[in-house]
Amino acid sequence: MKALRSKTPQLWLNPAFGEAGDLSVSADGIADAYARLTRCAGLLSDLFAELAGLDGPVDSPLLEVTHLQRAQGSDPARDGQWFVKGDHALPVAGSIKARGGFHEVLALAEKLALEQGILQPDEDRRALARPAARALFSRYTVTVGSTGNLGLSIGVMAAALGFRAVVHMSTDAKAWKKTRLRDRGVEVVEHAGDYAAAVEGGRAQALADPYGYFVDDEHSERLFYGYAAAAQMLARQLSAAGRQVDARHPLFVYLPCGVGGAPGGITFGLKVLYGPHVHCFFAEPAASPCMLVQLASGMEKAVSVYDVGLDNQTQADGLAVGLASPLVSPVMLQQLSGIYTATDEDLHCWLHRMARTESIALEPSAAAGIGGPRWLAHSEAGRAYLEAQGLVSDMPNASHIIWTTGGSLVPEREHAKFQALGAELERCRLREAGGMVR
Ligand SMILES: *Cc1c(COP(=O)(O)O)cnc(C)c1O
Repeated sequence: MKALRSKTPQLWLNPAFGEAGDLSVSADGIADAYARLTRCAGLLSDLFAELAGLDGPVDSPLLEVTHLQRAQGSDPARDGQWFVKGDHALPVAGSIKARGGFHEVLALAEKLALEQGILQPDEDRRALARPAARALFSRYTVTVGSTGNLGLSIGVMAAALGFRAVVHMSTDAKAWKKTRLRDRGVEVVEHAGDYAAAVEGGRAQALADPYGYFVDDEHSERLFYGYAAAAQMLARQLSAAGRQVDARHPLFVYLPCGVGGAPGGITFGLKVLYGPHVHCFFAEPAASPCMLVQLASGMEKAVSVYDVGLDNQTQADGLAVGLASPLVSPVMLQQLSGIYTATDEDLHCWLHRMARTESIALEPSAAAGIGGPRWLAHSEAGRAYLEAQGLVSDMPNASHIIWTTGGSLVPEREHAKFQALGAELERCRLREAGGMVR
């Protein structure tokens, strides 16, 4: 609690990890989402030039990052191999929100078109781009509240299919995001003052409208299962790269966490595939560790970062969430190995090092996973985890996945600011620590 309140970075291990119990989510939901994203590939390739020729679910590359690993003081022969799962490069949405957001909008479009007889169950989903379908969708409004990337994913996909799309944002959300949405025909409603209350207003409005549909970041199963489908995609890429995952070849995955939907869905999906052989850790801003406070305080009631005296102020806008998803947190209580926190300085140092060593440009939120392998190998809690799990001698066989979650749509001048700050911090830190970097 002391480290939490003073925003001192820490690795917290989940004491309930591995406990069994009934879950509200199921593996069937993932298979369903994977199938939906697969059968809509042709449709997406028709709708977006960036996806021309797409013949499977929207996905991102798996990249070996040995230069970054060595720059962070890790040796593959001793610690296992580091990879990046590059969702920063997911097309159209530019972030990890692509799979979940696309899945939710596509599921809605299929449902409406099937109900109206515009689409037959076995028909090619390209039918959803025909005039009859667009005319149907144009009667409906898809609404979402988001300070950024979820709005980009939902808004752009909904507008492309012909829905009226409304994204509620705070006035201080990034200007380029608002412009990008408006350029694609999305209505942006800006709220000064209490943003959470404004989103509630948007929700109430959408729910009162028989032609309204509200995408609920905190409760949506369709988002969750769309995110979870990434697990299968990663599994294929790992086996194509010749990486085994089993009792002697552990898999470690480091996921930036906001409300918990995206990293929680992926964790759930990976647990279905790999059971105890995958070890998932979340990364949260030290000012917004909402999943950590929820899991650590027990699950009887909702606990926010404000309740423990934190302010939720961070440059990592994708992770600046005060309260964890009540859909996802009970699942993570059983499945998540632990959570570590990072300061804004950490995030900027890491994104700068990633750019310098691997030429990958990230937004601050997306860099949070980079610190994971070092927390595991070099902190007391990390070593305790490896010992408790009996993994110490298997580490040379390990695969570490740093999930990079956003950045490719960020304008060049924003990247330049992130990098300048990271370079400056890195210089200070090297000077202070005499060459030792966390
Ligand atoms: C939204 C987001 C996350 C986290 O996803 P949640 O579902 O909010 O936990 C991580 N990184 C980026 C860049 C994001 O936009």
